[in-house]
Amino acid sequence: MSSIANVEAYILKAEVPEPFYFAQPGYVTHRSSMVVEIVLDDGRIGYGEALCNGHQPADIAAATVTASLKPLLIGRDPLQTSVLYEEMYNLTKPFGQKGGVIGGISAVDIALWDLKGQILDLPIHALLGGAFRTSILPYATGFYRVKDGDYPRLLVEEAQRHVRNGFSAFKVKIGFGIDDDIRNIAAVREAVGSGVRIMADCNHAYNAGAARRLVRELDRLGVYWLEEPITPEDVDGYRSLVEMAPSLLIAAGENEFSRHGFWPWVKSRALDVLQPDLAAGGGFTGLREIQTLALSAGLAINPHVWGTAIGLAAAIQFIACIPPVPISRGGHEPMLEYDQSAHPFRRDLIAEQFAIVDGRVSVPDRPGLGITVNRDALLKYRY
Ligand code: CA
Repeated sequence: MSSIANVEAYILKAEVPEPFYFAQPGYVTHRSSMVVEIVLDDGRIGYGEALCNGHQPADIAAATVTASLKPLLIGRDPLQTSVLYEEMYNLTKPFGQKGGVIGGISAVDIALWDLKGQILDLPIHALLGGAFRTSILPYATGFYRVKDGDYPRLLVEEAQRHVRNGFSAFKVKIGFGIDDDIRNIAAVREAVGSGVRIMADCNHAYNAGAARRLVRELDRLGVYWLEEPITPEDVDGYRSLVEMAPSLLIAAGENEFSRHGFWPWVKSRALDVLQPDLAAGGGFTGLREIQTLALSAGLAINPHVWGTAIGLAAAIQFIACIPPVPISRGGHEPMLEYDQSAHPFRRDLIAEQFAIVDGRVSVPDRPGLGITVNRDALLKYRY
């Protein structure tokens, strides 16, 4: 039996070329990530990542890993992913449950599954019971704003760029005022036509009262889903939007975590699409449980992704294993959120590129996460 010999938390940080902003106050000036490296006594190395949203310091997840989780993990069997997940969650419950703390647990869990795949010589999708698809439809995330930007002109140009780059779906940042949002989505829709799938993301800019008009107008513009229209604590508000929305789907979940966090949402059917992030919501172990909750209620699950290529690789393995909801020719097929915004080290951390070929991203068949981590880049961007 292999055992865990060391656990290292890397805080990665780099300035973006041009600060950008979204619906929440402030500018994103840096991209950050917390990467976990787990070394076994036989020399095998596994990697995982904790999501850092636009304003989230990687230090919270890193401190969780080094101060809380590492003493629990040293000497343990890396194959015991469920046992270790429950122990890590229980240990940090009094001061964790959400945010950066479960982000740290998620990074460790991803690294453990990477190791499990290497030990058993199987890709993670095989360990999870098999892939429903060998490639995934990506959607571009971007449309952040820059100081003195000319909108909607820049949004239209970006939309056309994504289509040229092979995307047939993308997600536009809104949440800058309902009139502004409607004007911008209408301009983008007119530029790309009805053949492109458009999502819109408010980053919880509104309350339920204000969001009702947005739901009605975006539905009219053929938007596929509206993401985080309102604050992530307002389960009842979300349910009211789900109940009024004619065909537009209501999506959220990047700010919710674990089976405990998602249970009230599923129980009250307050969302159409659940969007837990693998690198924040509980890793493979945690997201499997959230998936079971979602499928039990017939709700779609489509993970959120906004990290480096390590988090992207993990998401690809997981998304491959989500069945269509429901299984039918018309069921919801999960897509891969493919961040196209500025990120100085997103691609540098691993050797592999997840290229878009014929509009889709292939699911790797190599063991574990199927990636080769570039340790020089880890050290270069270490903060
Ligand atoms: Ca979002």
